[in-house]
Amino acid sequence: MPELVYRLPPAFNSVTEERQHRKERLAAAFRLFAKFGFEEGVAGHITARDPELTDHFWVNPFAMSFAHIRVSDLILVNGAGEVVEGTHPVNAAAFAIHSQVHAARPDVVAAAHSHSVYGKAMSALGQILEPITQDACAFYSDHALFDDYTGVVVDTEEGKRIAHTLGGHKAVILRNHGLLTVGESVDSAAWWFITMERSCQAQLLAKAAGPVVHIDPEQAALTHRQVGHDFVGWLSFQPLYDKIVREQPDLLE
Ligand SMILES: [Zn+2]
Repeated sequence: MPELVYRLPPAFNSVTEERQHRKERLAAAFRLFAKFGFEEGVAGHITARDPELTDHFWVNPFAMSFAHIRVSDLILVNGAGEVVEGTHPVNAAAFAIHSQVHAARPDVVAAAHSHSVYGKAMSALGQILEPITQDACAFYSDHALFDDYTGVVVDTEEGKRIAHTLGGHKAVILRNHGLLTVGESVDSAAWWFITMERSCQAQLLAKAAGPVVHIDPEQAALTHRQVGHDFVGWLSFQPLYDKIVREQPDLLE
């Protein structure tokens, strides 16, 4: 019998290696968000905490298409919102929201937010995801609704309130705005965003078609333990990473 190779998150010999890895995953996540159509003008950001300067994060340059982002384009932002590496400014909302999420959640390596269509539609209803499919159970009792809207988030106090609502969950629906997801890796944060958007689409479609059948709470909780673990999020991202790097190898430049 052949020895089977299982994919596992990598271990690193240095912070330099770990930083490079996070940046590569981050650039790939942007390319994937572009492919999935999650871009809306200059809105949207994915951040990756620096492995050494842990109050700093890597993020997309303001007003650059997700579809063009390369590793060398990513900018590093410090705890005061200043760009300390890179030549582009940071989106003020990216700093206001993500700095507070990273500060409140030391376990979180990455956070993703964009104005994707189905996430926006769900946010307009002020509803959360219901356990109506196996995939949606990844979010069962594991996401929250930020039930407020006060304009474009440019104030870290608003970011703090969002982080407080997120709590220990993997995602939050920002009312009248869109989705935000977090993960212990760039991979899982990006995957949770992609699958959450699709679960929003499935819920909107199903509920528009007729009454839905709910998975009962006990089975939903079991399924959450099976499909909602951060490792599953990491693993689910790997085929997408392989695909985008093969299609668009320049993202690694
Ligand atoms: Zn936004």
